[in-house]
Amino acid sequence: MIEIKNLTIQFNRQPPVVEDMSLTVPEGGRTIILGESGSGKSVTLAAILGILPSDAAVRGSIKIGGTEVLGLRERELRKIRGKVIGYVPQGSGNGMNPLMTVGEQVSEPLVEHSGLKKDEALQKAKAWMERLGLTPADKLARAYPHTLSGGMRQRALMAMGAAGGARILLADEPTKGLDEKRIAEVEKLLLSMDDRTLLCVSHDLRFASRIADTVCVMYGGKTVEVAPAKAFFKKPKHPYSKMLLEALPENGLNCPGGYAPSIDKRFACAFANHCPQASGKCFETPEMVRVEQHNVRCHLYGA
Ligand code: SF4
Repeated sequence: MIEIKNLTIQFNRQPPVVEDMSLTVPEGGRTIILGESGSGKSVTLAAILGILPSDAAVRGSIKIGGTEVLGLRERELRKIRGKVIGYVPQGSGNGMNPLMTVGEQVSEPLVEHSGLKKDEALQKAKAWMERLGLTPADKLARAYPHTLSGGMRQRALMAMGAAGGARILLADEPTKGLDEKRIAEVEKLLLSMDDRTLLCVSHDLRFASRIADTVCVMYGGKTVEVAPAKAFFKKPKHPYSKMLLEALPENGLNCPGGYAPSIDKRFACAFANHCPQASGKCFETPEMVRVEQHNVRCHLYGA
Protein backbone atom coordinates (compact mmCIF):
# COMPACT_ATOMS: atom_id res chain seq x y z
CA MET A 1 0.00 0.00 0.00
CA ILE A 2 2.91 2.34 0.81
CA GLU A 3 6.23 1.65 -0.87
CA ILE A 4 9.19 3.92 -0.16
CA LYS A 5 12.41 3.25 -2.04
CA ASN A 6 15.80 4.93 -1.57
CA LEU A 7 14.18 8.14 -0.30
CA THR A 8 16.65 10.97 0.29
CA ILE A 9 15.61 14.46 1.44
CA GLN A 10 17.87 17.51 1.67
CA PHE A 11 17.27 21.16 2.47
CA ASN A 12 19.41 23.92 0.95
CA ARG A 13 22.13 21.46 -0.09
CA GLN A 14 22.79 20.61 3.55
CA PRO A 15 23.53 16.99 4.55
CA PRO A 16 20.42 14.82 4.03
CA VAL A 17 17.82 14.75 6.81
CA VAL A 18 16.61 11.43 5.39
CA GLU A 19 19.00 9.23 3.45
CA ASP A 20 18.42 6.13 1.36
CA MET A 21 15.28 5.12 3.23
CA SER A 22 13.27 2.14 2.04
CA LEU A 23 10.12 0.83 3.70
CA THR A 24 7.07 -1.13 2.58
CA VAL A 25 3.78 -1.03 4.47
CA PRO A 26 1.37 -3.71 3.19
CA GLU A 27 -2.38 -3.18 3.01
CA GLY A 28 -3.85 -3.39 6.51
CA GLY A 29 -0.38 -3.26 8.09
CA ARG A 30 0.44 -1.17 11.13
CA THR A 31 4.00 0.14 10.94
CA ILE A 32 5.49 2.45 13.52
CA ILE A 33 8.62 4.49 12.84
CA LEU A 34 10.56 4.96 16.06
CA GLY A 35 13.35 7.43 16.68
CA GLU A 36 14.42 10.56 18.49
CA SER A 37 13.54 14.12 17.44
CA GLY A 38 15.52 14.98 14.33
CA SER A 39 15.89 11.37 13.18
CA GLY A 40 13.84 12.06 10.03
CA LYS A 41 10.53 10.49 11.05
CA SER A 42 8.18 13.44 10.56
CA VAL A 43 9.96 14.64 7.40
CA THR A 44 9.31 11.21 5.89
CA LEU A 45 5.58 11.57 6.60
CA ALA A 46 5.62 15.07 5.08
CA ALA A 47 7.27 13.64 1.94
CA ILE A 48 4.53 10.99 1.60
CA LEU A 49 1.88 13.71 1.92
CA GLY A 50 3.70 16.04 -0.49
CA ILE A 51 3.79 18.86 2.03
CA LEU A 52 7.54 19.44 2.26
CA PRO A 53 8.68 23.07 1.91
CA SER A 54 9.71 24.19 -1.57
CA ASP A 55 13.44 24.21 -0.71
CA ALA A 56 13.41 20.45 -0.11
CA ALA A 57 15.26 18.32 -2.66
CA VAL A 58 13.71 14.85 -2.76
CA ARG A 59 15.09 11.78 -4.53
CA GLY A 60 13.87 8.21 -4.66
CA SER A 61 10.35 6.87 -4.96
CA ILE A 62 7.15 6.89 -2.90
CA LYS A 63 4.27 4.80 -4.23
CA ILE A 64 0.78 4.83 -2.75
CA GLY A 65 -1.32 1.91 -3.95
CA GLY A 66 1.09 1.55 -6.88
CA THR A 67 0.96 5.23 -7.91
CA GLU A 68 4.16 7.28 -7.76
CA VAL A 69 3.43 10.40 -5.72
CA LEU A 70 6.81 12.13 -5.88
CA GLY A 71 6.59 14.80 -8.54
CA LEU A 72 2.77 14.96 -8.60
CA ARG A 73 1.22 18.41 -8.90
CA GLU A 74 -0.55 19.98 -5.93
CA ARG A 75 -3.94 19.48 -7.63
CA GLU A 76 -3.29 15.73 -7.96
CA LEU A 77 -1.90 15.47 -4.44
CA ARG A 78 -5.06 17.07 -3.05
CA LYS A 79 -7.12 14.24 -4.52
CA ILE A 80 -4.97 11.78 -2.58
CA ARG A 81 -4.80 13.69 0.71
CA GLY A 82 -7.95 13.19 2.73
CA LYS A 83 -9.50 10.69 0.30
CA VAL A 84 -6.75 8.05 0.15
CA ILE A 85 -4.57 9.26 3.03
CA GLY A 86 -5.90 10.60 6.32
CA TYR A 87 -3.36 12.59 8.31
CA VAL A 88 -3.13 13.22 12.04
CA PRO A 89 -0.55 15.98 12.58
CA GLN A 90 1.58 16.47 15.66
CA GLY A 91 1.25 19.40 18.05
CA SER A 92 -1.61 19.22 20.54
CA GLY A 93 -4.10 20.37 17.94
CA ASN A 94 -2.47 23.76 17.44
CA GLY A 95 -3.04 23.32 13.71
CA MET A 96 -6.82 23.44 14.08
CA ASN A 97 -8.68 26.37 12.57
CA PRO A 98 -9.52 28.71 15.50
CA LEU A 99 -12.52 30.15 13.63
CA MET A 100 -14.34 26.87 13.05
CA THR A 101 -16.06 24.72 15.67
CA VAL A 102 -14.61 21.32 16.48
CA GLY A 103 -17.67 19.62 14.96
CA GLU A 104 -17.30 21.54 11.69
CA GLN A 105 -13.66 20.56 11.44
CA VAL A 106 -14.15 16.88 12.25
CA SER A 107 -17.08 16.65 9.79
CA GLU A 108 -15.31 18.55 6.98
CA PRO A 109 -13.50 15.50 5.51
CA LEU A 110 -16.80 13.59 5.53
CA VAL A 111 -18.46 16.32 3.45
CA GLU A 112 -15.48 16.71 1.13
CA HIS A 113 -14.50 13.07 0.57
CA SER A 114 -17.56 10.97 1.41
CA GLY A 115 -20.13 13.28 -0.18
CA LEU A 116 -22.29 13.44 2.96
CA LYS A 117 -24.63 16.37 3.66
CA LYS A 118 -23.50 18.66 6.47
CA ASP A 119 -26.05 17.39 9.05
CA GLU A 120 -25.30 13.77 8.34
CA ALA A 121 -21.55 14.42 8.44
CA LEU A 122 -21.88 16.19 11.79
CA GLN A 123 -23.68 13.18 13.31
CA LYS A 124 -20.90 10.88 12.11
CA ALA A 125 -18.27 13.32 13.37
CA LYS A 126 -19.85 13.22 16.83
CA ALA A 127 -19.76 9.42 16.79
CA TRP A 128 -16.00 9.58 16.03
CA MET A 129 -15.54 12.09 18.83
CA GLU A 130 -17.30 9.75 21.26
CA ARG A 131 -15.07 6.87 20.22
CA LEU A 132 -12.13 9.02 21.26
CA GLY A 133 -13.59 10.01 24.61
CA LEU A 134 -14.51 13.55 23.48
CA THR A 135 -17.74 13.67 25.45
CA PRO A 136 -20.34 15.08 25.65
CA ALA A 137 -19.83 15.11 21.88
CA ASP A 138 -22.88 17.36 21.30
CA LYS A 139 -21.42 20.11 23.44
CA LEU A 140 -17.82 19.70 22.31
CA ALA A 141 -18.83 19.70 18.64
CA ARG A 142 -20.16 23.26 19.15
CA ALA A 143 -16.99 24.38 20.97
CA TYR A 144 -14.06 26.23 19.41
CA PRO A 145 -10.58 24.64 19.61
CA HIS A 146 -9.16 27.19 22.12
CA THR A 147 -11.70 26.05 24.72
CA LEU A 148 -10.35 22.48 24.64
CA SER A 149 -7.26 21.19 26.42
CA GLY A 150 -4.20 20.19 24.35
CA GLY A 151 -5.02 16.50 24.83
CA MET A 152 -8.60 17.02 23.66
CA ARG A 153 -7.44 18.91 20.56
CA GLN A 154 -5.00 16.08 19.82
CA ARG A 155 -7.90 13.62 19.92
CA ALA A 156 -10.03 15.93 17.75
CA LEU A 157 -7.21 15.84 15.17
CA MET A 158 -7.23 12.07 15.41
CA ALA A 159 -10.98 12.08 14.69
CA MET A 160 -10.42 14.44 11.72
CA GLY A 161 -7.77 12.11 10.27
CA ALA A 162 -9.88 8.99 10.73
CA ALA A 163 -13.39 10.28 9.95
CA GLY A 164 -12.91 10.75 6.19
CA GLY A 165 -12.60 6.98 5.72
CA ALA A 166 -9.21 7.13 3.96
CA ARG A 167 -7.67 3.67 3.51
CA ILE A 168 -4.31 4.91 4.80
CA LEU A 169 -3.82 6.75 8.05
CA LEU A 170 -0.59 8.64 8.70
CA ALA A 171 -0.18 9.78 12.29
CA ASP A 172 2.59 11.93 13.72
CA GLU A 173 3.09 11.27 17.45
CA PRO A 174 -0.63 10.58 18.11
CA THR A 175 -0.05 9.87 21.83
CA LYS A 176 2.16 12.87 22.57
CA GLY A 177 0.98 14.77 25.65
CA LEU A 178 -1.82 12.30 26.45
CA ASP A 179 -2.25 10.54 29.79
CA GLU A 180 -2.44 6.74 30.05
CA LYS A 181 -6.24 6.67 29.82
CA ARG A 182 -6.29 8.75 26.64
CA ILE A 183 -3.42 6.77 25.12
CA ALA A 184 -5.48 3.62 25.73
CA GLU A 185 -8.42 5.22 23.85
CA VAL A 186 -6.21 6.13 20.89
CA GLU A 187 -4.78 2.59 20.86
CA LYS A 188 -8.25 1.06 20.99
CA LEU A 189 -9.37 3.23 18.09
CA LEU A 190 -6.33 2.38 15.96
CA LEU A 191 -6.68 -1.33 16.66
CA SER A 192 -10.38 -1.20 15.78
CA MET A 193 -9.57 0.24 12.33
CA ASP A 194 -8.06 -3.03 11.12
CA ASP A 195 -9.27 -2.39 7.57
CA ARG A 196 -6.90 0.59 7.30
CA THR A 197 -3.19 0.80 6.68
CA LEU A 198 -1.39 2.68 9.43
CA LEU A 199 1.97 4.41 9.27
CA CYS A 200 2.71 6.22 12.46
CA VAL A 201 5.79 7.99 13.83
CA SER A 202 6.37 7.94 17.55
CA HIS A 203 9.01 7.96 20.24
CA ASP A 204 6.65 5.98 22.51
CA LEU A 205 8.02 2.42 22.70
CA ARG A 206 5.14 1.09 24.79
CA PHE A 207 2.59 2.45 22.33
CA ALA A 208 4.56 0.86 19.48
CA SER A 209 4.74 -2.50 21.26
CA ARG A 210 0.95 -2.57 21.67
CA ILE A 211 -0.02 -1.26 18.22
CA ALA A 212 2.58 -2.14 15.61
CA ASP A 213 2.99 -5.27 13.59
CA THR A 214 6.19 -3.83 12.11
CA VAL A 215 8.75 -1.48 13.64
CA CYS A 216 11.12 0.75 11.69
CA VAL A 217 13.87 2.47 13.67
CA MET A 218 15.43 5.65 12.30
CA TYR A 219 18.62 7.25 13.53
CA GLY A 220 20.41 10.29 12.11
CA GLY A 221 18.17 10.26 8.99
CA LYS A 222 18.76 6.58 8.22
CA THR A 223 16.71 3.48 8.74
CA VAL A 224 18.84 1.31 11.03
CA GLU A 225 16.43 -1.57 11.70
CA VAL A 226 13.13 -2.85 10.31
CA ALA A 227 11.58 -5.93 11.89
CA PRO A 228 8.29 -7.57 12.86
CA ALA A 229 7.28 -5.95 16.15
CA LYS A 230 7.31 -9.21 18.11
CA ALA A 231 10.85 -10.09 17.01
CA PHE A 232 12.00 -6.50 17.56
CA PHE A 233 10.74 -6.22 21.12
CA LYS A 234 11.98 -9.70 21.98
CA LYS A 235 15.49 -9.28 20.61
CA PRO A 236 16.46 -6.11 18.71
CA LYS A 237 19.61 -6.35 16.61
CA HIS A 238 20.98 -2.84 16.08
CA PRO A 239 22.99 -1.37 19.01
CA TYR A 240 20.80 1.75 18.97
CA SER A 241 17.59 -0.32 19.09
CA LYS A 242 19.03 -2.27 22.02
CA MET A 243 19.80 0.94 23.89
CA LEU A 244 16.30 2.29 23.20
CA LEU A 245 14.74 -0.79 24.80
CA GLU A 246 17.18 -0.67 27.73
CA ALA A 247 15.76 2.77 28.55
CA LEU A 248 12.41 1.20 29.46
CA PRO A 249 11.87 0.95 33.26
CA GLU A 250 11.32 -2.83 33.13
CA ASN A 251 14.69 -3.21 31.36
CA GLY A 252 16.71 -1.18 33.83
CA LEU A 253 15.87 2.44 32.91
CA ASN A 254 19.32 2.82 31.41
CA CYS A 255 18.69 6.22 29.88
CA PRO A 256 21.64 8.57 29.33
CA GLY A 257 19.33 11.28 27.97
CA GLY A 258 19.53 11.13 24.21
CA TYR A 259 21.94 9.95 21.57
CA ALA A 260 22.89 12.87 19.33
CA PRO A 261 24.37 11.65 16.01
CA SER A 262 28.16 11.49 15.80
CA ILE A 263 29.97 14.68 14.91
CA ASP A 264 33.15 12.72 14.18
CA LYS A 265 32.93 12.67 10.39
CA ARG A 266 35.54 9.90 10.15
CA PHE A 267 32.79 7.48 11.16
CA ALA A 268 30.34 6.65 8.40
CA CYS A 269 27.91 5.29 11.00
CA ALA A 270 26.22 8.21 12.79
CA PHE A 271 25.75 6.11 15.94
CA ALA A 272 29.49 5.47 16.41
CA ASN A 273 29.85 8.08 19.21
CA HIS A 274 27.52 6.09 21.44
CA CYS A 275 28.09 2.57 20.20
CA PRO A 276 29.93 0.23 22.60
CA GLN A 277 30.75 -2.05 19.67
CA ALA A 278 32.18 0.54 17.26
CA SER A 279 35.32 -0.62 15.47
CA GLY A 280 37.55 0.35 12.56
CA LYS A 281 34.93 -1.11 10.19
CA CYS A 282 32.54 1.66 11.18
CA PHE A 283 34.58 4.21 9.20
CA GLU A 284 32.79 2.66 6.20
CA THR A 285 29.09 3.08 5.49
CA PRO A 286 27.10 0.09 6.77
CA GLU A 287 24.63 -1.40 4.29
CA MET A 288 21.25 -2.85 5.21
CA VAL A 289 21.56 -6.62 5.67
CA ARG A 290 19.06 -9.36 6.45
CA VAL A 291 19.46 -11.02 9.86
CA GLU A 292 16.75 -13.58 10.65
CA GLN A 293 13.51 -11.55 10.41
CA HIS A 294 15.29 -8.19 10.77
CA ASN A 295 16.82 -5.79 8.25
CA VAL A 296 19.74 -4.13 10.04
CA ARG A 297 22.20 -1.43 9.05
CA CYS A 298 25.27 -2.29 11.12
CA HIS A 299 28.73 -3.79 10.56
CA LEU A 300 28.16 -6.34 13.31
CA TYR A 301 26.09 -8.27 10.80
CA GLY A 302 26.58 -9.61 7.31
CA ALA A 303 29.85 -10.54 5.63
FE1 SF4 B 1 28.02 0.43 16.13
FE2 SF4 B 1 29.57 0.16 13.98
FE3 SF4 B 1 27.13 -0.93 14.05
FE4 SF4 B 1 27.42 1.71 13.85
S1 SF4 B 1 28.05 0.17 12.33
S2 SF4 B 1 26.01 0.64 15.18
S3 SF4 B 1 29.24 2.06 15.13
S4 SF4 B 1 28.90 -1.47 15.32
